Formats: sequence, structure tokens, C-alpha cells
Amino acid sequence: MIGYIVLKDIIKKYKGNEKNTINNFNLNIEKGEFVVILGPSGSGKSTLLEMICGFESPTSGTIDIDDNIVNDVLPKDRNVSMVFQDYALFPHMTVYENIAFGMKIRKTDKRTIENKVKWASEVLEIEPFLKVKPKKLSGGQRQRVALARAMVREPKLFLMDEPLSNLDSQLRYSTCHEITNLHKKIGATTIYVTHDHVEALSMADKIVILNDGVIQQVGTPNEIYEAPSNLFVATFIGRPKMNTFDIKMEKDTFCINGDIVFSNNQLPNLDSERSYIIGIRPEHIRFVGTVNEYIKNKNVLEATIEKIEYTGGESLIYLRKKDTTFTMKYNQDESLKVGEVISVVFDFNKVSIFDSITKQNLRRA
Ligand code: ADP
Repeated sequence: MIGYIVLKDIIKKYKGNEKNTINNFNLNIEKGEFVVILGPSGSGKSTLLEMICGFESPTSGTIDIDDNIVNDVLPKDRNVSMVFQDYALFPHMTVYENIAFGMKIRKTDKRTIENKVKWASEVLEIEPFLKVKPKKLSGGQRQRVALARAMVREPKLFLMDEPLSNLDSQLRYSTCHEITNLHKKIGATTIYVTHDHVEALSMADKIVILNDGVIQQVGTPNEIYEAPSNLFVATFIGRPKMNTFDIKMEKDTFCINGDIVFSNNQLPNLDSERSYIIGIRPEHIRFVGTVNEYIKNKNVLEATIEKIEYTGGESLIYLRKKDTTFTMKYNQDESLKVGEVISVVFDFNKVSIFDSITKQNLRRA
């Protein structure tokens, strides 16, 4: 399937570096899609954006925007707009002049400039500030001016490189919301780079997870969260992190320090000679009673409460079973105490099982 933006077999190796920064990167983006590239620092996210906007060239592979291979096209002729985290507004110009600047340079007629600034400032609700200089604005308002400046170019593609990382958490949340609203209103194809999984989950139509320059998974936020392709994706997405346990099958059961957590009748293909890593998110572990109520052989795990953290609406319970520690989200009525031994069950349908060597999620394959 051919997309609106097609990145094909991209490799990027910087001079002097031993390793490739980007390796065999292939991605199709549809017109109007909001794609988030998510990965830890150093995974190659900015390099990827720089190649798409033309500040860097791929070592090999092609970049196709709206049916044109743009590898040899200058950045200014690619019809893409980039919004950076430091939004670099001109301090001596008013908001109006900042938004109009690019169009003025390109000698756009005055009437068109006026109309476009009006349109962008209405969409982003910054009309009251048009005559004001940027230093009078809050971080969030400045970020909106930077977005307006990018919008008036009506680019084929918006590129955003961690545009929210300088904002405090409240403002991050509201600007995040504004960017998705803006996307809904004007439907511009957008590639948004971040290392923040919450931003990615809340904004994206499609998330691309990158690690060490290699795509780990491409999917909707729900697919990525519920069915991670491998252990890296599973533990990178979601806080508190997915719990993981190294376990060997014993006869036909999975045990954690002697307690059976599952029998294997639902997964007949697992090899009793091999070890596996099972993963379960804190919200998929359920409290079933204190130890006195515990019924033997019901696939329950006994563990001791080491710490309780109230997070508003629910608590995070830190549990220990001998040398194994894990966390559980808890929002039931019964009050729990540190030091208490409780019984919990794992929701088997939600458990991921990873091969201990390849780290691939076997339940997804
Ligand atoms: P991210 O945006 O995910 O933090 P970057 O794309 O900035 O990652 O960097 C990924 C890796 O690419 C860096 O760890 C570095 O080794 C290398 N790199 C980035 N830019 C350059 C450059 N201009 N010259 C040499 N190596 C670079």
C-alpha cells in the first residue's frame, strides 16, 4: 500500500560513528494521520525528523512526500513545517508579525497575510495577543504562536520535535489537548516526536516505537499498550511499569517462588524445558483476599505488602514474594496494611509471555 508519506529502507550513518543511527526504517503515513515517533533519548527520533524536513540526508533509502521523492529537494522546497521545543519567536516583533514573517519574506500579498493570520489565530485562540510581544506571553501561549506560524504555511506535513518538553505539567496537558484539537480542525498530516509515552498514547492515531534506530512496533495506542510486540515495548509503555517475572514451566504450570500462577492448558505450545518471561500490568493483578481466606490450588499468589502509595482514586501496592517484587493497582474497599500477607490473582487473558532469548511476545505471534 502506498501512503501519503513513504519512508523506504532508510539507513542513516553519521560520519565517524561506528553504528547506524537509523536502520532499515520503513513507514507509510496516510494523509491526515497523526503519527507519534516514541523512543528513549538517543534512539534516532530527531535524526529521522531532520531527514524528513531535509536538514540531514539519509545514507540510503528514499523519502517520498505526496508522490515525490524528495531526497534531493531543499528543505525550503519540501513544503513541510517544523515546530521545535524551543519555539524561537522573534522577541522584537509582535505576535502578528511573528506569524506573518515567513509569508512577508515570500512576498505574499498583504490581504492574504491578514486572512491567514486571522484564520490561524482564531483556530489557536490567540487573537487577543496579536499586538503583544512574545515576552508578555506564557509558555503555552508562545507555543501556540509557534504553531500558528507553522500553520499559515499550510504545509503538506507538520513535524514536531518534543514541542512540549519546556512546559510545566499542567500546560503540557492543555497544549497537548490543543495540538490534537488543531489536528482535528485542520486535518494536517503530522509526525510528532516524543520520549513521553503518555503524550504518545493520548495523541496518536499511530505510534511508531523506536529503539536504537530500529522500529520495534507500529500500532494504535491500544494495540501497543494491550499487545506489545516485545519486552522493550511492554516495559517502555505504561507507568508503573509492566511487572515481569523470569519463570520456568514446572510440569504444566507456571510458578512464582512455589505458588502456581497459571496452568498451561491455554498455551499448549510452550516448551517445558525452556524459560520464559511473563509480563503483567499492575492493573491486571487483582486482590482476592487476605491469607486466611485463601483457598489452596486456585492459582493464587501469596505476597507481603511492602509499601502502599495513594495516587488519587486508587493506590499502588508494592508486593514481595520471597525475592520477587511486583506492583498492583488497587481500588477496592477493603483497607490494606503494610506487612499484611494477601492473596492476588493474575488476569490470565491479559498476561504477555515473552521468549527469554528473543524477548518477542509469544502471545502476539
Ligand atoms: P533522539 O532524538 O531519539 O534523542 P538523535 O536522533 O538525536 O536521537 O540521536 C541518535 C544518535 O545519533 C545519537 O546518540 C548520536 O550517536 C547520533 N547523532 C545524532 N546527531 C549526530 C550528528 N550530527 N553527528 C554524529 N552523530 C549524531
